[in-house]
Amino acid sequence: MAAQTYLFPCLKDNFGVLIHDQASGATAAIDAPEAAAVEAALQKTGWQLGEILVTHHHADHTQGIAELKARHKCRVVAPGAEAARIAHVDDTVGEGDSVKVGGLQGRVIDTPGHTAGHISYFFPADKIAFVGDTLFSIGCGRVIEGNPEMMWHSLVKLRKLPDDTQFYCGHEYTDANIRFAKTIEPGNKALAARGEEVKKLLAAGKATIPATIGAEKAENPFLRADNPDVAKSLGLSGKPAWQVFAEIRERKNRF
Ligand SMILES: [Zn+2]
Repeated sequence: MAAQTYLFPCLKDNFGVLIHDQASGATAAIDAPEAAAVEAALQKTGWQLGEILVTHHHADHTQGIAELKARHKCRVVAPGAEAARIAHVDDTVGEGDSVKVGGLQGRVIDTPGHTAGHISYFFPADKIAFVGDTLFSIGCGRVIEGNPEMMWHSLVKLRKLPDDTQFYCGHEYTDANIRFAKTIEPGNKALAARGEEVKKLLAAGKATIPATIGAEKAENPFLRADNPDVAKSLGLSGKPAWQVFAEIRERKNRF
């Protein structure tokens, strides 16, 4: 049986998400931005929290852990490289490790750059990825602890996932990301169409994610830094892709 997910907004612009295995009844929360919001999602779905899969140590992804663990006795799985900065960790994981949510099998992908030990979780049978603050829809996370080359490499790893992979990110930033992306690729028709779609979703009070890797490859400038036309429009023809990525990231920081 397939995985089910339940997405919900929390804090100012964070997303929380649950993944549930229908066959076994097992449920995991991806990150714990806000205990009350996760609790409300569990009430609504009737699912029992067994695990929290943490992507990185930032407070807006971890501050609900203590309360949820106290109430549900759930296991906390976190990136090994950041375990010292995250309270109540039971298991540490890194590149290539498996995680299980009942019968659902996930794989850990190291995606450093936003933080030094950031990880993502990919469930290949259901083609679902949880990418935290590494990849956003039409954007990417700020490079805070790593460097642009590291972040570019992480994004390329996520770009290699199957095109029909649905990914869930940590924040609702899509609308602002699209406004910026249009400054990099004003002629990108797929991006323009996505802009219209996102406006409708937001007007209807809906989330703009999950998005697919395939669509992002056509629309997200941060995944297109190795496209010769993108490099050319930035005056960086012939430069390594990570340098083009660094320029796009820098422009976004100032946008
Ligand atoms: Zn973060």
